[in-house]
Amino acid sequence: QEGPPGDPLSGLLDQVRRSLRDLGGGAPASYIPELSRVDPDLFGLSLCALDGQVYGSGDTQVPFTVQSVSKPFVFALALADRGLEEVLTRVGAEPSGEAFNSIRLEPGTGRPPNPMVNAGAIVTTSLVAGDTPEARFDRILDGLSAFAARPLAVDEAVYASERATGDRNRALAYLMHNAGSLTGDVEDQLDVYFRQCSVLVTCDDLAVMHATLAAGGVNPVSGTRVVAPRHAQHVLAVMATCGMYDASGQWMLQVGMPAKSGVSGAIGVALPGQFGIGVFSPPLEEKGNSVRGIAACHLLSDQFGLHLMRAS
Ligand code: GLU
Repeated sequence: QEGPPGDPLSGLLDQVRRSLRDLGGGAPASYIPELSRVDPDLFGLSLCALDGQVYGSGDTQVPFTVQSVSKPFVFALALADRGLEEVLTRVGAEPSGEAFNSIRLEPGTGRPPNPMVNAGAIVTTSLVAGDTPEARFDRILDGLSAFAARPLAVDEAVYASERATGDRNRALAYLMHNAGSLTGDVEDQLDVYFRQCSVLVTCDDLAVMHATLAAGGVNPVSGTRVVAPRHAQHVLAVMATCGMYDASGQWMLQVGMPAKSGVSGAIGVALPGQFGIGVFSPPLEEKGNSVRGIAACHLLSDQFGLHLMRAS
């Protein structure tokens, strides 16, 4: 499905990737032991156009766990199942300016700041429809697969590692349960969240998933509508303001496209009406974003004038 070698767009992606291949700095996440085993030199860059054509360069088909890049898509499913109004009673839509695992909840309501930080994502995961944790996870896995236009699976070793070392997420979930923003059995909700973070994707998948958001909810590869246009719009808005952890403002300033990053070294980008991008390179800067991933998106944005706030 990738563009033929030698096509101009793959050639451009190749240039960008090659120019950054030797960029050093950062380290793969180690707080989940299984993630630290990754080859730090892996580097892939994919783009999916809205006609469904996928272009790529480098390690575009190597699987890695989706981690926080799942958050926008599960937020989309929660919106589809509950509607914006109900979702907003349980989770906010304000950038937190704090780290992804921040423990701050809104005084009074107990709401986490937004669906892109861990606390907010644990809540949106709990809002996906399903009578049992298994049914909720099935809906999430089916939904992520529909965004990717292929059946996805869980990395069981990463899942076990997440669960064994997830005490901070556990603490967040119990705090939210106490505050009323997270309901149901806390361990069950966490289990679904840990599984969701452990779903395996490739760079090409990320490009297709983000192209689906960029296309207003219709997957350009499968032609299937995954979510309603207004829900895709809500998700892109929250990605634009909250998607890059506590570097979201700086990202909007310099790159200017809605994006979400994850601690496996993935970044997904959606330019509304244009395309989706997936980048994967495991070494992270101190805020948890892929060093080469950030650099690649800066370059693409600058070279091709992709900043959303650009007047012409
Ligand atoms: N599974 C990770 C956690 O909740 C996801 C973090 C991330 O990618 O930001 O700790």
